[in-house]
Amino acid sequence: MQNQNQPLLEVKGLKTYFYMEQDRVAKAVDDVSFTLKKGETLALVGESGSGKSITSLSIMRLIPSPPGKIVEGSVKLEGKELLTLSDRDMRRVRGNDIGMIFQEPMTSLNPVYTIGNQIAETLMKHKKMRKKEAYKRAVDLLKLVGFARAEEIVNEYPHQLSGGMRQRAMIAIAMSCDPKLLIADEPTTALDVTIQAQILDLMVEMKQKFDSSVLLITHDLGVVAEVADRVLVMYGGQIVEEATVYELFTNPKHPYTVGLLNSIPSLDEEVDRLDSIPGTVPPAHRFPHGCRFAPRCKHAMPECLEENPELRETDAHHKVRCYLYEEQGGEKVG
Ligand code: SF4
Repeated sequence: MQNQNQPLLEVKGLKTYFYMEQDRVAKAVDDVSFTLKKGETLALVGESGSGKSITSLSIMRLIPSPPGKIVEGSVKLEGKELLTLSDRDMRRVRGNDIGMIFQEPMTSLNPVYTIGNQIAETLMKHKKMRKKEAYKRAVDLLKLVGFARAEEIVNEYPHQLSGGMRQRAMIAIAMSCDPKLLIADEPTTALDVTIQAQILDLMVEMKQKFDSSVLLITHDLGVVAEVADRVLVMYGGQIVEEATVYELFTNPKHPYTVGLLNSIPSLDEEVDRLDSIPGTVPPAHRFPHGCRFAPRCKHAMPECLEENPELRETDAHHKVRCYLYEEQGGEKVG
């Protein structure tokens, strides 16, 4: 039985490396620790190459191996260690306890089966339902995610649906087993702006209806502001800032977070991106020796080039990995 205070998901010291040609090692996720509370929506934010998607794939144990490998750390779901489970048990966890939504539903929906078939298969496999009952539940789930003509959609194939409809169908599949945790990796990136808002609203609604928690992976701080409770900002395979959404938007600390916030286009200003972040995320096999953000940071000091700063708590519920805040008496975390 779960202890009330126990986090739903607890990630500790996670390291996922990719072993490349010429003995190069890409430290895509490098010592990441965080917790996700029951009922919470936690956003993992960063540019592409920051390590956010590899973190979520590591949690689901879906890292292509080789070349990837989880080399260290712990991932616990309701106290159960996932990294040491057999492949069979892990498949069961993915079917029963974790629902997944990806950016492009076409990569996860099977083009040769009807939508109803794909939902029913999941229910028969993981909920041990009979075929008739599973199809009935599939129709109910499709209604729940907003399909007015659910009875027809069950018999349609993924290519017959629009992008937004496919994402709705994916959400129906993800929720079909009543998951404790929903992992959504860039769920709205491929969609038009109006459809994006509908899909986000649907995710929030489903989370409440199914009493789930959400780990949302996104590069879009607009999406974060809309749905998340707490945010982890990732850069160079590490967490560089952790705060509540309110704290992050009103009092961002890490220069990378400040740059991300400044690069959100504003409707009432003539947008220039002067304040956005110069340069790109360095490749994971060539992180600088000191602070990984130093080559792009306008505040970089000599010590920043010497050693990578630790993630430290600066205020309650706010952590940052930057030498600018060390003198504020920040306490080292983890
Ligand atoms: Fe910039 Fe230095 Fe802070 Fe890194 S540690 S973000 S280089 S000020």
